Amino acid sequence: MKVIILGTGTSQGVPVIGCRCETCNSKNPKDKRTRTSAIINVNNSNILIDTSVDFRQQMLSNNLNDIDSVLYTHHHVDHIFGMDDLRQITQRFDKKIDIYGRKDTLDELRITFRYVFDKQLIRHNSVPIVKFHDKSNRKFRSGVTEIMPIEVHHGNIKIFGYRINDFAYITDASAIDEKELAKLKGLKVLVLNALRIRPHPTHFNLQQAIEISKSVNPEKTYLTHLTHDLIHDKINQTLPKGIELAYDGLEIDL
Ligand SMILES: [Zn+2]
Ligand SMILES: [Zn+2]
Ligand SMILES: [Zn+2]
Repeated sequence: MKVIILGTGTSQGVPVIGCRCETCNSKNPKDKRTRTSAIINVNNSNILIDTSVDFRQQMLSNNLNDIDSVLYTHHHVDHIFGMDDLRQITQRFDKKIDIYGRKDTLDELRITFRYVFDKQLIRHNSVPIVKFHDKSNRKFRSGVTEIMPIEVHHGNIKIFGYRINDFAYITDASAIDEKELAKLKGLKVLVLNALRIRPHPTHFNLQQAIEISKSVNPEKTYLTHLTHDLIHDKINQTLPKGIELAYDGLEIDL
């Protein structure tokens, strides 16, 4: 199983348009953050987490060309607006992509991407060909791969993270209940959101993410969904052992 972290930026990306701060001016490629997403290659299938606004560029930058299924965490724009670019894949390989998520997330997608369900457009292959699967908070399978949703709070909504084998991916969380934390026992790698230094009403800040990581106690935690508050090399030096900031293009072998 191999994971590539495709994007690690918060909703506006880093650098932020017009910003001249130290991170936005940084020459370090690890300070260039496209919007948050990852791809998991497992059992010969490519499972994408979210279709970020930067999905097309992420596929090109990482030399990727195929997706078999998408796991959506939630419906916010930074996590979904690349969906139309699945079209290039469904056309080229003449296939349907399986889309999984909470029912309320997929209902929002059905509204935002209403044209994707237009029979005329489907016939002319001018939309991505997708099949939606509404999921409750229970283990399910995509092909032969077992996927465990992890339900987390994101401000006042509930969204999904996902666990596959010894890997879990949680973004945009602001709180996690005990019974969901219990699903994260025995992890090798946890990817978790850590927005910035100061607290935020709908996302963990750096300190909260560190506390969650310590309570889950995986072998390694990578932090994602980062703002320009967090300059890569300087912040990394301050983090406890086993916790690091993720960066775009990071590859994790499991
Ligand atoms: Zn987000
Ligand atoms: Zn900045
Ligand atoms: Zn969000």
